[in-house]
Amino acid sequence: MTEILGTPALGAPGLGAPSASSAGVAGSGDRPALAPWWHAGKKLTVLGATGSIGDSTLDVSARLGIPLHALTAHRQVDKLAALCRQHRPALAVIGDESLLPQLRAALAGTGVVASAGAAALEEAAAAPEVGAVMTAIVGAAGLPATLAAVRAGKRMCIANKEPLVMAGALIMAEAARCGVTILPVDSEHSAIFQCLEGHHPDEVERLVLTASGGPLRTVMDLSQVTVAQALKHPTWTMGAKITIDSATLMNKALEIIEAQWLFGVPAERIAVLVHPQSVVHSLVAYRDGSLMAQLGKPDMRTPIQYALTWPRHVAGPVAAPDLTAMAGLTFEPPDTRRFPSLTMAYAAAATGGVAPAVMNAANEVAVVAFLDGKTPFLDIFRTVERALEQAPNLREPSLADIVAADAETRRIWSR
Ligand code: NAD
Ligand code: MG
Repeated sequence: MTEILGTPALGAPGLGAPSASSAGVAGSGDRPALAPWWHAGKKLTVLGATGSIGDSTLDVSARLGIPLHALTAHRQVDKLAALCRQHRPALAVIGDESLLPQLRAALAGTGVVASAGAAALEEAAAAPEVGAVMTAIVGAAGLPATLAAVRAGKRMCIANKEPLVMAGALIMAEAARCGVTILPVDSEHSAIFQCLEGHHPDEVERLVLTASGGPLRTVMDLSQVTVAQALKHPTWTMGAKITIDSATLMNKALEIIEAQWLFGVPAERIAVLVHPQSVVHSLVAYRDGSLMAQLGKPDMRTPIQYALTWPRHVAGPVAAPDLTAMAGLTFEPPDTRRFPSLTMAYAAAATGGVAPAVMNAANEVAVVAFLDGKTPFLDIFRTVERALEQAPNLREPSLADIVAADAETRRIWSR
């Protein structure tokens, strides 16, 4: 598999790809054993280790015996230190430099080296002993370390979708240039990745992303939605930002653009289907009328483990869902009148340039303002809509253009 849907980087045999000739834990029966990448003496860095994806990643990596190079966090010193005591990486990085003395003190006697700041985050991702990086920072803040890891040729397990939304063209071009394997962690994209394996891009008619519909799917009047209501996700347990994104369907909007870059399929051929049970994680529609889907429990450890063990499905902590115990799997079209995020995503994708970065930045600041109780729920849509109307129209923006558009959007729309 060297190319999926015109995206040579995705699934291409990259650095550390398992080789069929070597022995390893992933083999079974009379299939040739494939050595997992970490048997080549390489380690995993988890960017954003103290978050929801970080927790699930460390659960999976500990079960598989994956050695850790670095764990990072933004400000959660105590949690980072506790994770380091439990999982014994070589390095701990705290994003906020003022917290370095605290981190050092908390790690005293452990042998774990402490460092801090943006450059240290990039080094943690790009160090020579690193074989793979799990990107689990939330938001645009993950862009520099994502790019640093790609440029250092690391296998990329990408959960942190916002950098792909902002700068997908650049990240994918750099991945192709550096021979990097990109493995999607987002459950929908992992599902699509699995449904595409072994198929030619020409066979695909469209990609179908499923959405739970979020906590407000059945709330007709969104004007009075409280923070607590919007944070109450019916099927997934996640960080606050992505949970609000699920309530607005902005998460699905970001995922359309994420899928466009990962799979090289234009947004107009990426559909969204609301599926409240979150069991069918996404689908690929083939030209012959076949729909291929991947099913699983709503537990991120499944797609995280597949990204870490690709191309093998190995035993893990999550059992398959019992389909006979389910009342039914239902599907409905999204309500774009109540939830205009999807319409904005298709418009931003059509405009291209920095529009997706502006959409992402406006959403990030609007979500913070809502979570801080400063603005009503519906302000999130209004903010993103107005920011997109004013987005500069740039063809093929540079990284500097994208970073500037992100900063300018935050400056204008922060509350
Ligand atoms: P979270 O809020 O639970 O954790 C975020 C992590 O990033 C924490 O470790 C935090 O310390 C770190 N961080 C935050 N701001 C930072 C900054 N400015 N600099 C450096 N580090 C920073 O988030 P999460 O729910 O784990 O989501 C992480 C990413 O994965 C997001 O991009 C999200 O969209 C994506 N994702 C999450 C899920 C899920 O189930 N949680 C599913 C699919 C995709
Ligand atoms: Mg998702």
